[in-house]
Amino acid sequence: MEKGRLIKGIGGFYYVDVMGEIYECKARGIFRQHNITPLVGDQVIISVTDEAKKMGVVEKVLERRTQLIRPAVANVDQAIIVFAVTQPEPNISLLDRFLILAESEDLDIIICLNKIDLVEKEVYETIVNMYTSAGYKVVLTSYKDNDSILNLRRMLLEKTSVFAGPSGVGKSTLLNKVDPRLKLKTGVISQKTARGKHTTRHAELIAIERESWVVDTPGFSALNVDFIDEGELSFYFPEFLPCLEECKFASCYHMDEPKCGVKKGLKEGKVSEQRYSSYLQLIQEIRNSRRF
Ligand code: GDP
Ligand code: ZN
Repeated sequence: MEKGRLIKGIGGFYYVDVMGEIYECKARGIFRQHNITPLVGDQVIISVTDEAKKMGVVEKVLERRTQLIRPAVANVDQAIIVFAVTQPEPNISLLDRFLILAESEDLDIIICLNKIDLVEKEVYETIVNMYTSAGYKVVLTSYKDNDSILNLRRMLLEKTSVFAGPSGVGKSTLLNKVDPRLKLKTGVISQKTARGKHTTRHAELIAIERESWVVDTPGFSALNVDFIDEGELSFYFPEFLPCLEECKFASCYHMDEPKCGVKKGLKEGKVSEQRYSSYLQLIQEIRNSRRF
């Protein structure tokens, strides 16, 4: 018996990485009885049936820590949320949506601001400050700056990471730079044709080093946040958390209520105007979706 990581599933076969060796495996019939489908990202126990041909059988799926729905991958540790400092211009409200989705999946989050070769530092400094003071890790990258790629790569070590962000910001370019074996298609147009309606892509894990994995396809394309309860939205804004105990009402929505800790934080500069306005926009959206 060997323990490994399920990195790919195609046509009934599961590909399991055991210390860098890939075994082509069938799953035991017992999974069907118990309605378990082994998932990319699962830690599994296999028995090797043919060492020379690298074939085996998945005997057991170990307990999943987390499970992403789209892409369907188990045991992802962190999300790298990629935005460009320009081309396309960063959209704060969209960035906040990505953050909330990653928070809701309980992922560690790194915000990656890419294409810093295109503008002066002054242009993105405000965004960096805004998110660093909200408690997020922010990394600056450019595919033209090898040090920044190495720095990003370092942050991926010993983790399983999924990249997310709007199209055109440079996710595929960065992934290809981090590991040239990825060979992802880049450029907005090629991506659109590659992801037509009928091409269902199954995610794969690529090992950039032993025990360091990236999901080869970007995450969270559906950006609805209306699955979140309006009373819980503030929990997804880490910088709001220390303010909440100062809200007079336990059911404070931080809108028009008196003695609100979040609005106090806003006055004191602990909460930024833009993040607060993202919050207001999202809570409105959640309320609107509940009306139907
Ligand atoms: P994706 O849709 O997020 O995967 O974005 P792509 O990786 O396809 O990149 C979109 C475009 O941005 C391509 O033309 C890339 O060459 C360009 N690009 C990506 N990263 C950088 C960068 O760091 N600097 C500059 N100047 N262009 C970049
Ligand atoms: Zn409040």
